[in-house]
Amino acid sequence: NPSTGKFTVSFIEGDGIGPEISQSVKQIFDAAKVPIDWEPCDVSPLFINGLTTIPEPAVQSINKNLVALKGPLATPIGKGHRSLNLTLRKTFGLFANVRPAKSIEGFKTIYDNVDLVIIRENTEGEYSGIEHVVTPGVVQSIKLITRDASERVIRYAYEYARAIGRPRVIVVHKSTIQRLADGLFVDVAKELSQEYPDIQLETELIDNTVLNVVSNPSSYSNAVSVCPNLYGDILSDLNSGLSAGSLGLTPSANIGHEVSIFEAVHGSAPDIAGQNKANPTALLLSSVMMLNHMGLNNHADKIEKAVLSTIASGPEGRTGDLAGKATTSSFTDAVIGRL
Ligand code: NAD
Repeated sequence: NPSTGKFTVSFIEGDGIGPEISQSVKQIFDAAKVPIDWEPCDVSPLFINGLTTIPEPAVQSINKNLVALKGPLATPIGKGHRSLNLTLRKTFGLFANVRPAKSIEGFKTIYDNVDLVIIRENTEGEYSGIEHVVTPGVVQSIKLITRDASERVIRYAYEYARAIGRPRVIVVHKSTIQRLADGLFVDVAKELSQEYPDIQLETELIDNTVLNVVSNPSSYSNAVSVCPNLYGDILSDLNSGLSAGSLGLTPSANIGHEVSIFEAVHGSAPDIAGQNKANPTALLLSSVMMLNHMGLNNHADKIEKAVLSTIASGPEGRTGDLAGKATTSSFTDAVIGRL
């Protein structure tokens, strides 16, 4: 907004613990004087002709602002509804899911030095939803890989590696078995590598990746991994487990050509909703990714440092999921005190 010098960002607070952790982000952003005005978005799904759709005002808001922060959305139980998260991905063409997984200083897990980044193709592969019964007892499920979708996500991986100063891009695949599908994904990566001479391309079979990452995660600290949809889904959860050991800590970004939506990896945590117990860190670290994406790096660094040093300060500074004693609001106040 040229008259106020502020950016407008769409904010989907989400369900369950969503409003509590969203409140924490808003308070911390206010205290840090981040030049952002939030535009609240209601994405309560509409079911029209058997299709899940998002209310038009929310679509307009996100298409106008191009950047959104999103709390967790509960998926309605019942058949026939596409999940709202999938609907958002399709509506805004969010082709890459970026998930960093980094050890948190002062919170002990199996490994100390995990710093992994995985980029998952978000639109096709095993999630194309093309399945049919050939004959009773025989089903076919189609994994769709296209040159276009592979190219846009792999190109994003090269660009992301360059932007965060990592010299290696690793394509994770199983082209020994999925010769054509994963073969195309690997071929596209090799073709694109000509355009990124400063980045070293490596290819790795997914079974090797799994073994390597659990035995020596720090060997990936200077790399960005990129892979087809299902592998990315599984590997990114593995990485979260290795780095943090709590769902309350892992952020993510969903990137499209125009729109990007930033969100915590965890769900709406109905078991602790409304009890001032939720850990807002994952949404806060997602908002830090968002600030970096927007070029507001100083604000991003300031908030990230305050969050991490609060967690490192000991059990008084941590929420219950990290075996601490803090509430959502006392944690928020402590972060504000450390900005
Ligand atoms: P969940 O991530 O909501 O909860 C799993 C466990 O982790 C619970 O014990 C919960 O209390 C804990 N937890 C999660 N986030 C936490 C936080 N910030 N602080 C402290 N503890 C936290 O997973 P679930 O119970 O399987 O799913 C609940 C709902 O969320 C479902 O409707 C599901 O579809 C939805 N969901 C949404 C998203 C999303 O919007 N991206 C992702 C996953 C699940």
